[in-house]
Amino acid sequence: MTYIVTDNCIKCKYMDCVEVCPVDCFYEGENMLVIHPDECIDCGVCEPECPADAIRPDTESGLEQWLEINRKYSEIWPNITEKGDQPADAKDYDGVPGKFEKYFSAEPGEGS
Ligand code: SF4
Ligand code: SF4
Repeated sequence: MTYIVTDNCIKCKYMDCVEVCPVDCFYEGENMLVIHPDECIDCGVCEPECPADAIRPDTESGLEQWLEINRKYSEIWPNITEKGDQPADAKDYDGVPGKFEKYFSAEPGEGS
């Protein structure tokens, strides 16, 4: 299994998660992060750290699409290990439904 980042990270991108990961397996897109499924050691430390409640174990049902997104983009986007500045409007988007369809960006972030 692995932990993965899901829909509610999009445009929230608080980045509290990257500071606690012992194996630095977060990767940064323009407006969300993903976890590399083969690097994650399933420690679960990041899950309660996410203010947007966006991190889930892939054993939960209905997350197949998100496992694929985490796998695909963790191979493309740069690694991130330090928390940057969260978007100024992050709170406005927390909990908005259907963010993937409306706002997902395949563009890479800056990494750190
Ligand atoms: S803490 Fe949550 S919302 Fe913030 S970047 Fe990590 S997964 Fe996304
Ligand atoms: S479960 Fe552990 S290893 Fe996996 S992304 Fe979270 S903190 Fe990193």
